[in-house]
Amino acid sequence: MLRYGCIQAITDPRGQANPACHSLFSDCGIPFCQSNSGCPISNLIPSWNELVFRDDWHSAYLRLKATNNMSWATGRVCPAPCQSACTNGINGAPVEIKSIECAIIDRAYEEGWVQPEPPKTRTGKKVAVIGSGPAGLSCAEQLNRAGHTVTVYERSDAIGGLLYCQYSRDCAPNHRSFY
Ligand code: SF4
Repeated sequence: MLRYGCIQAITDPRGQANPACHSLFSDCGIPFCQSNSGCPISNLIPSWNELVFRDDWHSAYLRLKATNNMSWATGRVCPAPCQSACTNGINGAPVEIKSIECAIIDRAYEEGWVQPEPPKTRTGKKVAVIGSGPAGLSCAEQLNRAGHTVTVYERSDAIGGLLYCQYSRDCAPNHRSFY
């Protein structure tokens, strides 16, 4: 199903891969989208673009979440400096990176690939994280993956901090709830 302009850009009207766009991803000389002026969380953008082109959405999802603790939100709330940095934007329209990012995570939810990933062993150490904004939740997830037992403290009634506010404003009621 073609849901986003960028997916249309990398496929023809029948949903077949567009060789010109394949060349766009694989032959990008300098992927500025991944530089200091591009994605602030160092998403592996050309890599997951290429995997989407190859119709390997599961691998694209794995590549997306490898650098991104908030992959369900970033494509929707991020102002996308990656696209401002895109080499293709020098003399034309940049690749619609955030649309592809959204499509990957939507596909991951639809396919049931997004599952809890408890650590195999626990270290026995307890860690308190103060604040449940994006930084706090990302920190908590990384600590949990490392095997520590994490408690997140939040002074507000709702978790999520600025992320919750922006996600609710930009995305509700059209997308899944934060909770
Ligand atoms: S839209 Fe996604 S890939 Fe682009 S800068 Fe934001 S988080 Fe990174």
